[in-house]
Amino acid sequence: MPSNTSSLIDLDRAHLIHPVAPWRKHEQRGVTVLESGHGAWLKDAAGNELLDAFAGLWCVNVGYGQESVVQAATAQMRKLPYATGYFHFGSEPAIQLAAKLVEIAPPSLKHVYLTLGGSEAIDAAVRLIVHYYNATGRPGKKQFISLERGYHGSSSTGAGLTALPVFHRGFDLPRPEQHYIASPYLYRSPEGSTAQSVIDASVQSLRAKVASLGADNVAAFFCEPIQGSGGVIVPPTGWLKAMRQACTELGILFVVDEVITGFGRTGPMFACQAEGVEPDLMTMAKGLTSGYAPMGALMMSDAVYAGIADGAAPGVPIGHGATYSAHPVSAAIALEVIRIYQEGGMLAHAQKVAPHFAQGLDALTAHPLVGEARHRGLLGALELVSNKTTKAGFDPALGLSDLLFETGYRNGLVFRSFGDNILGFAPALCYTEGEFSQLFRRLEKTLDEVL
Ligand code: PLP
Repeated sequence: MPSNTSSLIDLDRAHLIHPVAPWRKHEQRGVTVLESGHGAWLKDAAGNELLDAFAGLWCVNVGYGQESVVQAATAQMRKLPYATGYFHFGSEPAIQLAAKLVEIAPPSLKHVYLTLGGSEAIDAAVRLIVHYYNATGRPGKKQFISLERGYHGSSSTGAGLTALPVFHRGFDLPRPEQHYIASPYLYRSPEGSTAQSVIDASVQSLRAKVASLGADNVAAFFCEPIQGSGGVIVPPTGWLKAMRQACTELGILFVVDEVITGFGRTGPMFACQAEGVEPDLMTMAKGLTSGYAPMGALMMSDAVYAGIADGAAPGVPIGHGATYSAHPVSAAIALEVIRIYQEGGMLAHAQKVAPHFAQGLDALTAHPLVGEARHRGLLGALELVSNKTTKAGFDPALGLSDLLFETGYRNGLVFRSFGDNILGFAPALCYTEGEFSQLFRRLEKTLDEVL
């Protein structure tokens, strides 16, 4: 390892706090410094070439090293590196981006608030929904419902809609107004469950939860079209549409969190478009800029926008915003990234190669460790079991998750594990057929080595 790298590791140990890491364990293990990337490939500071099967953190959809994105960013930095979106100022890329998002999103969404990432988009959604109900004379509607195993970021409100224990433990979450219903998880549903019974159970749980809270008290239901960090839980086709319908009937807002599933990850530009679903609000980030700069967005319907806009006394600001909202460099990057998806043909390419991803995952169900493969587009997972009949998982004391990650890394593959049983994959949309073959060769070798 170059001596510069070992001093970096010491500096990291001493000073840098890593997101969602066990702090003391991280100090012992030491950081893995990533140095460069090209296409689907990463190189670390020790010179290892790695096939990235997770697009960074499910975000680098267009792949690393896209020169036109770099050019769009530098051109905007030279021209105008910063313009506030506060008050009545704006910048051309931010305005063009808002118009572009309205063009490519479901037709119900007409207004765009540009944030720094997904957590801030969720936080904005919660704050503005509260504001909306206050402004429209329904101040009782303050209860929020989301899914068990859901992930909606780690802002102080969003982390409570997230239903993963590490985001709650020690943080006094969830808040009393945050509630969950079971996720549409067919593999772990009772024996004899079907796609339809899973959909019916979700609708029934939502209705029961709203009834127990009182419909006049419930503000909104938040969900991911496919739960990502909860273990890539792919619901049956028709689930999202059924939940939309239920929210309409219950008189609560339907918020779709497309932070992972947006921008071609599951096939269409947004996952909800596969079922013609039109949310009241929608959040996005990650693939919006493909990770080349931080940015997220909250989109909303005319009705929600108008409720807030017209509820304020004339001339009184709606007090929500940040210095870097609608940042022009991030917006210029997002516009170029979306151009690559569309005119650059990357979405079409991803749809064309997705069957290789699906076949590779499905083939691994023959492996003794794999209980289920699930996928949609270029988002997928393997659920590992110690017994395929009982579907029993592994004892956390075995530390399988760390072992798989380290073994995969030694085999030149980066993916992610969730708990001790689930391996997640989100390859960049630029993957070639040959890269899928390499991914699955390396993955099979990894599974064989931990067996
Ligand atoms: N929502 C979902 C579905 C996510 O997966 C994430 C991040 O992984 C977020 C929200 C939070 O986004 P960010 O990490 O950009 O704050």
